[in-house]
Amino acid sequence: MQRTARRDNPFERTIRSQLYARGLRYRIHYPIPGMKRTTCDFAFPGLKIAVFLDGCFWHGCEVHPPSVKKNTDFWMAKVERNRARDERATAHLTDLGWTALRFWEHENVATIVEKIAATVKARRGRVPSSPPLSGTLKDK
Ligand SMILES: [Zn+2]
Repeated sequence: MQRTARRDNPFERTIRSQLYARGLRYRIHYPIPGMKRTTCDFAFPGLKIAVFLDGCFWHGCEVHPPSVKKNTDFWMAKVERNRARDERATAHLTDLGWTALRFWEHENVATIVEKIAATVKARRGRVPSSPPLSGTLKDK
């Protein structure tokens, strides 16, 4: 149950549906190439963009430190492991030439959607449709 709630919560769904409404198509829970059992929340694989929507508690947001009264060490260790894995995933994706976008669940939804849409647009612009032939510049 916990796993389901974490993986597909209202925050994720809201962002995805707003992107979808803008005509953006993504793959949900896309496995990170070369990392076992690690997925991003959704991805645009063709454009090499991975999006992570991080829950404040599970990913150790510094604005909202977890308030746990019992088993503090256990939870802290778990959050710490998540943070370490998050960093590895981001570094790994960057090495592969991907853009990793990370957002906190406390961030403004509209702002997040804007950033993702802008990144998709920028990435699309970079994909060469038909590279200019050599010599074209001589005309100038
Ligand atoms: Zn937070």
